[in-house]
Amino acid sequence: MQFSTENRWPMQHFSSKPFLHLSLLHDLADFLFPRHCVMCRNRLNTTEVHICCGCIRSLHRVVYHGDGRHGAIERLFWERIPIERATSFFYYDSYEAHNLIHVFKYFNRPTVAQTLGRMFAEEMKHTDFFDGVDGLVSLPLHWQKRIQRGYNQSDYIVKGLSEVTGIPILRNTVRRIRNNPSQTHLSHQEREENVRGIFKLTKPEVVSHKHILLVDDVLTTGSTLTSCAMELARAEDVRISIFTLAYAHEMIDFLIHEPRDMEYEFHVRPTVAEDTYSEEEEC
Ligand SMILES: [Zn+2]
Repeated sequence: MQFSTENRWPMQHFSSKPFLHLSLLHDLADFLFPRHCVMCRNRLNTTEVHICCGCIRSLHRVVYHGDGRHGAIERLFWERIPIERATSFFYYDSYEAHNLIHVFKYFNRPTVAQTLGRMFAEEMKHTDFFDGVDGLVSLPLHWQKRIQRGYNQSDYIVKGLSEVTGIPILRNTVRRIRNNPSQTHLSHQEREENVRGIFKLTKPEVVSHKHILLVDDVLTTGSTLTSCAMELARAEDVRISIFTLAYAHEMIDFLIHEPRDMEYEFHVRPTVAEDTYSEEEEC
């Protein structure tokens, strides 16, 4: 079927007009109530959400190997629990990455985690990482910590992943029954002991015969995720993959301390002019 310019024009006319109005309203809202990047504090353009393109590009990406090739993160779980795939979005190797995690974890900005989940899913949707995954499960917090913080940041990460991939979120399938003390300063073996038996599978029928993607914010030794995955694996014929936003090497565990007197402070990168990034630019 051929379309002439005349035939197309009215369609464009009627479909673009509301879009134009929305775009103008969006621009006006941004002018009146400017939004700023949570990492560098520079002003965001109309297409950016929470984080500017420059900052998201500055994070060191973990390369997902796929195609049956195994990266360092998948090898981390070998000999502990059988998993299908595992990867993270970026390395937890800089103060910028550290501040980004702390913003949504300790400073009441959980939707930043949702945005990061969306960004990761957008980048990975053309790989095989999400292939065959039937459901998303966030690593649960103990109820006391959840009340103290007001939310579970991993719930927001899975929201972002689900929005892009369409994979359903499986809620309340596993519960954290013990509020284990901080893992910081513990040896690898002590961490394994510290998290043993802290989760309880509550709805095995929901995860049975499914491929589950278990999601958390930061991966260090993998002890907590392994403990939760082992509990999920008690369900019949369940397969498990793992995703975290950040991957931290043990050597930089000092970055993971829960803040005590920490201020909402950023280590600002060199300022980038606002017009450096065009609206068409993807990040
Ligand atoms: Zn920025």
